[in-house]
Amino acid sequence: SNFGYEVVTETEKTNKVYGVFQNVAKNYDTMNDAMSLGIHRWWKDSFMRLMNATPGIRLLDVAGGTGDIAFRFLDYISSKPHRAFQKEEQDLSWEEISQMYEQREGEQSIDKGSMVVVCDINKEMLHIGQARARERTNTNGLSWILGNAEELPVADNKFDIYSIAFGIRNVTDIPRALDEAYRVLRPGGRFMCLEFSHVTNPVVERLYDIYSFQIIPVLGEVIAEDWKSYQYLVESIRLFPDQSAKSRPN
Ligand code: SAM
Repeated sequence: SNFGYEVVTETEKTNKVYGVFQNVAKNYDTMNDAMSLGIHRWWKDSFMRLMNATPGIRLLDVAGGTGDIAFRFLDYISSKPHRAFQKEEQDLSWEEISQMYEQREGEQSIDKGSMVVVCDINKEMLHIGQARARERTNTNGLSWILGNAEELPVADNKFDIYSIAFGIRNVTDIPRALDEAYRVLRPGGRFMCLEFSHVTNPVVERLYDIYSFQIIPVLGEVIAEDWKSYQYLVESIRLFPDQSAKSRPN
């Protein structure tokens, strides 16, 4: 059962998702810690270990939100702060980013010209990430670009890794986003996706249902005064295919 929650159609989805992240941007990081009891940090750390990026890697982090994956990437690649590029305060155009891309090619610095481009459809989320970036010492090779995963504003064959963390279930046309990932990756590049799926143990499932339907929206209301957005997040996880499914259920 859906516990009486509505199911959203594909056509309404893009606008709905935009509204949700517009609303939650300000409280996004606090809510992630509250809802997951901090566990999202472990998941992201373990994602980065799997990624095992080496200096020189070019990463495109799609649905990158407030920068959690990008910052972990920078820390992973290099602990030495040095600031060659200071333009991360603004949204750059692909022309500007590709200029930086050329400039960093073959660089001899400790990170060997690594780059991480955070792409997100929502300006508010990017702005929170950019504010967080200003608190950091190491932002070398970091840039932000506004864009839709279904139509990435970047050129072909440019990235060694495409990552998308807790993002793909929000995308309306997932096959189209996958085509785009393929287009922007270099031959031999890696696609990495971190996402919620379904619990298989019936006891855990029952607990998870209670937690996600009855506690998460309450936390949303108490911390962010926004029941509906957190209700959407719960629904979107339920609608996402399970581990073995090949496509999204209708
Ligand atoms: N990756 C971040 C993290 O792990 O904390 C943020 C995940 S957040 C749950 C989902 C993000 O996906 C939001 O920032 C939202 O704006 C973005 N998003 C939703 N639809 C998108 C699309 N079609 N293209 C790009 N980003 C999208």
